[in-house]
Amino acid sequence: MPNMSPTKTPMPHQPADVRNKNFSEVSLGYTEEMALNEAARCLGCKHRPCVAGCPVGVPIPEFITQLKVGNIKESGEILSSTNRLPAVCGRVCPQEAQCEKYCVRGIKGEPVAIGRLERFVADQMLKMENQTSQNINPNGHKVAVVGSGPAGLTCAGELAAKGYAVTVFEALHIPGGVLSYGIPEFRLPKAIVAKEVENLKMLGVELRLNTVIGRTVDVDELFERGFEAVFIGSGAGLPTFMNIPGEELIGVYSANEYLTRVNLMKAYDAAYDTPIRKSERVAVVGGGNVAMDAARCAKRLGAEEVSIIYRRGREEMPARQEEILHAEEEGIVMRLLTNPNAILADKGEVSGISCVEMELGEPDKSGRRSPVVKVGSDFVLPVDTVIMAIGTSPNPLIGSTTPAIQVDSKGRIIVTGRMASTMTGVYAGGDAVTGAATVILAMGAGKEAAASIDKFIKNT
Ligand code: FAD
Ligand code: SF4
Repeated sequence: MPNMSPTKTPMPHQPADVRNKNFSEVSLGYTEEMALNEAARCLGCKHRPCVAGCPVGVPIPEFITQLKVGNIKESGEILSSTNRLPAVCGRVCPQEAQCEKYCVRGIKGEPVAIGRLERFVADQMLKMENQTSQNINPNGHKVAVVGSGPAGLTCAGELAAKGYAVTVFEALHIPGGVLSYGIPEFRLPKAIVAKEVENLKMLGVELRLNTVIGRTVDVDELFERGFEAVFIGSGAGLPTFMNIPGEELIGVYSANEYLTRVNLMKAYDAAYDTPIRKSERVAVVGGGNVAMDAARCAKRLGAEEVSIIYRRGREEMPARQEEILHAEEEGIVMRLLTNPNAILADKGEVSGISCVEMELGEPDKSGRRSPVVKVGSDFVLPVDTVIMAIGTSPNPLIGSTTPAIQVDSKGRIIVTGRMASTMTGVYAGGDAVTGAATVILAMGAGKEAAASIDKFIKNT
């Protein structure tokens, strides 16, 4: 009998006033009983509308059907047949805008909690040993992957499973891209990322860390070294600033720099002497996931008041609804319809942020109502730290060192079809092509590129 409850089985969380002082995971995950209860809400629809909403086409009813009867291993194998990072996706994917948006149970209530079930199954799989098949026949072909974010890791995993010798070149000392340096521990524990990377290594993927393509070696040299194709998944890590007075002051960070200091330089761990400001009043400018993450980190590092400054309304915020809610519960102040116009200083250090109130005008090309300034509404918010989280763009290094790989006016690598760049044998995907987007879109691009590379090498 299906469970006809109109609401999702609740997910246990750390209480807000406890978790805003630690970096442990906020959402605690389903127990087996909760997972089975939620799985019973799935009707196993034959037309599978939820699958059409998943950028990598996870066979959702099939993995849930196996879970319902307690076949966790089979359920996990179905999941990982299409998704190489299920424990990551179960935690950070915007399911409300993807699979769950199309779930028929959402018509008269809440959709099936597909993401929470994905997380449950993937976590159980990570606890099992030898889950990744190693019976792969090497096909004798070599492919290079630039960047170890979700796009690069997915492309590498897909190709390794087909027998390619894949080497991933990563600029940083830790693999994972944004999964490691951007998304904080309390949303995505780094041990989970490390285990998913370990699974890829078991498939034969080789990782070369601390190697910047375009500096240590360039793309042409990769071909000279015998790689027959190259996938570029170098992301969009270059921060954008507003170009307002005061952005050069001590105490102003880009969100990427701030989060890197928290995640990779372990600012949350007292055993590390991480160079980061001991802030009391923090303003985070922006309304996306990055802004929420930076604000929630600042709060956990001990700031008394942390404000999000966003020029549109709550409805327009691009962050996941769950992250906005969690941030509010943790005491982050939302200063909506507010735009900064200068950062103020006292003795060379940040002392405040001057803002103006906004109101929503006519919809712009994207359909969102454009914010317009409310005349005479300027005010100053006293702060000692400002974190800019208004977007990022791709780093120009690869395009500038290999001009055959063309980029557009925003630095995004141009792909001509099926992830092929303008240079023969070079494919690209993820944020490097789209600009800042999502984990699952990057993974979908990595998967598509792997299929194209396979075709390219076999036809060469
Ligand atoms: P990245 O993850 O950026 O990885 C690129 C990698 O390439 C990096 O490791 C980089 O060091 C490496 N690299 C760059 N240049 C070179 C080079 N020249 N040589 C070698 N290596 C190089 N998405 C969601 O779906 N849900 C979320 O909740 C979410 N939260 C986010 C929170 C934050 C703080 C940020 C910053 C992003 C978030 N995103 C989220 C977006 C998501 O993380 C990205 O869209 C995704 O990681 C893009 O994957 P990618 O593989 O294209 O690039
Ligand atoms: Fe299950 Fe919802 Fe997908 Fe139907 S649409 S198979 S109920 S998850």
